[in-house]
Amino acid sequence: MKFVSVPLPLQQAVMHTMQRRLTQASNFLQQRFPEPHITYQQRGTIAGSARLQDWEIRLNPVLLIENQQAFIDQVIPHELAHLLAYHQFGKVAPHGKEWRFIMEMIFEVPANRTHQFSVNSVRSKIFIYYCGCQQHELTIRQHNKVLRGKNCYVCRQCGEKLTLSGRTK
Ligand SMILES: [Zn+2]
Ligand SMILES: [Zn+2]
Repeated sequence: MKFVSVPLPLQQAVMHTMQRRLTQASNFLQQRFPEPHITYQQRGTIAGSARLQDWEIRLNPVLLIENQQAFIDQVIPHELAHLLAYHQFGKVAPHGKEWRFIMEMIFEVPANRTHQFSVNSVRSKIFIYYCGCQQHELTIRQHNKVLRGKNCYVCRQCGEKLTLSGRTK
């Protein structure tokens, strides 16, 4: 996967939203909370995740850049509510009544369990393979055949078996 850097103004908007939501929770619950770490390392088609023990929110940089307003309005309160539910109530069902309470009563946002984003740009369709002489691009169908052991592709030029590079396009 390519490295995606989140523009600074967007990172600042994320921080402001997180701080604003945290203040909302502090006022409501009459308690102060440490600021969670926000990282941009979420991979795949997931918008974000909350690392409860680490007090960390991981955001998907690609989806964040494509869906800025939805992240501000939904994803950040959603993940922060997971942290706060854990802080206040311990290990509870991920989208249970404690989490819904924080979403609806404190943050006043709809308690949606999932986010509807177009994930086309994070779903890779091309897989990069190498042989002894060049780079090859395999489709996801070809790649899946290799994974299932149904097919093994050989370079017509050098005759070497193609091996996956670990990169996608
Ligand atoms: Zn969730
Ligand atoms: Zn070759």
